[in-house]
Amino acid sequence: MSDIRPVKIYNSLSREKEVFTPNNPGRIGMYVCGPTVYNDVHLGNCRTFVSFDVIYRYLLHIGYKVRYVRNITDVGHLLDDGEDRMAKGARLDQLEPMEVAQKYTVGFHDMMRIFNTLPPSIEPRATGHIPEQIDMVQSILDRGYGYEKNGSVYFDVIKFAKENPSVYGRLSGRVIDELLAESRENLKNQDEKKHPADFAIWIKASDEHIMRWKSAWSVGFPGWHLECSAMSTKYLGKTFDIHGGGGDLKFPHHENEVAQNFGSCGCQPANYWMHANMLLLNGRKMSKSEGNTISPQELFSGESPFVSKGYSPMVVKFFMLMAHYRSTLDITDEALLAAEKGFRKLMETNRLLQNMPADPGNFDGSESETDRAILALIEEAYKGMDDDFNTAMSIAALSELGGYVNKLANNQLSATEVAPWVLERLKSVFNTFIFDILGLQDESAGDSNGTVEGLMELILDMRSNARAQKDWATSDKIRDALAEAGIQVKDGKDGVSWSKQ
Ligand code: AMP
Ligand code: ZN
Repeated sequence: MSDIRPVKIYNSLSREKEVFTPNNPGRIGMYVCGPTVYNDVHLGNCRTFVSFDVIYRYLLHIGYKVRYVRNITDVGHLLDDGEDRMAKGARLDQLEPMEVAQKYTVGFHDMMRIFNTLPPSIEPRATGHIPEQIDMVQSILDRGYGYEKNGSVYFDVIKFAKENPSVYGRLSGRVIDELLAESRENLKNQDEKKHPADFAIWIKASDEHIMRWKSAWSVGFPGWHLECSAMSTKYLGKTFDIHGGGGDLKFPHHENEVAQNFGSCGCQPANYWMHANMLLLNGRKMSKSEGNTISPQELFSGESPFVSKGYSPMVVKFFMLMAHYRSTLDITDEALLAAEKGFRKLMETNRLLQNMPADPGNFDGSESETDRAILALIEEAYKGMDDDFNTAMSIAALSELGGYVNKLANNQLSATEVAPWVLERLKSVFNTFIFDILGLQDESAGDSNGTVEGLMELILDMRSNARAQKDWATSDKIRDALAEAGIQVKDGKDGVSWSKQ
């Protein structure tokens, strides 16, 4: 498969960018930790899944066959006070845990569709893989890295770390001393552990715990980290290519996953570990458990004190992709406004480009300076993605290319300067990058010439004029008529904007 472009991936295991080599030429197994479905997905989660969606799309685009597995966590992910997140969701919503899981899985899928991400190849649920998890607990016990206490089973971190010093801590960079101080897991059952750094792989259910399964050790439920080890092994094999997730999962979740896989079969689960960086709100990690979140709906509608107006899903997605997935990204109103401008411009440029005549007629056949510059920028756009999926670099190259398109459209550059085949290549690269690789959508869909946008501009101008003349009746009439047509108008401090509801 030597015709596939080489890509470099920053591997959290080595803390370096490495040239990616799959286990099997032309094929990739990729596992990404999915959401815990006990409440609505927040924008931070969306950023991680959008990042891996673009990675998935690019790997497909350059010719790999990818099996992309992204799980649904519907059991075992405990809160710091020991309560199961699913049980908490059930208690708050007065539902069965499975109703909670279903409700928020549907919501998650809706949101992934709104952000135009591709569905994974397999989406396994933790509760659908209890036998596999029980088997893994048994293998860990058989290999001497687990111990049972009062019906619960714990992973013996200290024994494992001592016997495998090059494995434990490699991913997170933690050393045992730090683990001792930092382990917060299962505080309730701390006394059952030989060591505070040990973690539960099977937990005996208390009487009030509703999610429970029979096992050789007790009626109980699996520890959170176990599902990903068991399901990645089941669908991708013992050692697969890429394991991803948000950077907050590096420790303890991913470190413990490595320990479990290694502890049950003596092998590394993934060759490349990739971590998307956090989405911040007001400089702090956006987090469900800390309540520091803005929901996607709030951002789309503008109903939030953090933003001056609503931003459409594709603007929000473009905002995310303007940063590299390994950089933190702070949501600010200014950055969203800039993204909105950038996104609209990119779409407008693409519409102009796709409508350009394919053959300027009087082209003299020679390769011009402009041709060479355009081809070099196209290569730049690809190089960005080859370099650890740097969407920021690719978008910068696309907007430079957009400069040429606009000059051609304004006749600042003669059409004879661009060879027909270069123009065709530019058209195809623009479409491919915008729609297939970045997964953006033209929100004025079905409106290939931007008529809706043009009309909206006209209508909103009329409304502004009415307002300037204090003609509130006309201004309100326009707003209400648009609302009836499913278009929401927002007056923000930076002007008027609109979005489809
Ligand atoms: P959870 O539902 O909390 O298990 O998280 C689902 C995924 O979203 C995981 O890969 C997390 O690492 C990721 N995630 C959680 N919070 C954020 C955030 N603020 N920014 C980016 N990714 C996040
Ligand atoms: Zn996981």
